Amino acid sequence: MKKIIVLAFVAMMVFGPVVNVLAVDGDPSVVDTIQLGDPKVSETTSEPDFFSSIAKFFDTLIPMVPWALLASVIFIAMWVYFDASRRTNYGWIWGIASLLVVPWLIYLAWRPPYTIEEMKLIEADANLRRIEKEYYQYVLTKEKYICGVCGTPVQPDYQVCPSCYKELKKICPSCGKLLDPEWHICPYCASRITDRPKGA
Ligand SMILES: [Zn+2]
Ligand SMILES: [Zn+2]
Repeated sequence: MKKIIVLAFVAMMVFGPVVNVLAVDGDPSVVDTIQLGDPKVSETTSEPDFFSSIAKFFDTLIPMVPWALLASVIFIAMWVYFDASRRTNYGWIWGIASLLVVPWLIYLAWRPPYTIEEMKLIEADANLRRIEKEYYQYVLTKEKYICGVCGTPVQPDYQVCPSCYKELKKICPSCGKLLDPEWHICPYCASRITDRPKGA
């Protein structure tokens, strides 16, 4: 699909101006003016001849101007379509709207800096970093004795955080050792922990 659009565009770019120039050359009125002008030009010096050839050159260029403008607008719309398709879910809308030129300027100002694929990678990377951060925070609270809620440094035998009252350890009701609040069995005396000592 993309190739067909590009081929059609290139064909229009090349053949459009050629057809236009041929049409101008074939126009009898234009030929008449050139023929009428020729004897006068030959009588004068080479300098006006040079300028008249430049004038003729621009005469052939001027009919191409509308084609060039049209081709530029279509080229811009195609670029917007392909670019917006990668960055948004509305490539067709942006592309067609850009034929009116003003939406193209709006698109240039609003254009997302990343493509959809890049955004997915960035989000996945951010997720990974968040998980890593949470993991290391967890490791820190477990091994470096920092309150997991407020970050206050605590001692390994603290039962609660002195700053935010978070329960850090509970006491085994059977042997009295300090246990992780999430444990349901005491690793020292193997007694099951059903109730928290604070609630008892
Ligand atoms: Zn705390
Ligand atoms: Zn115990």
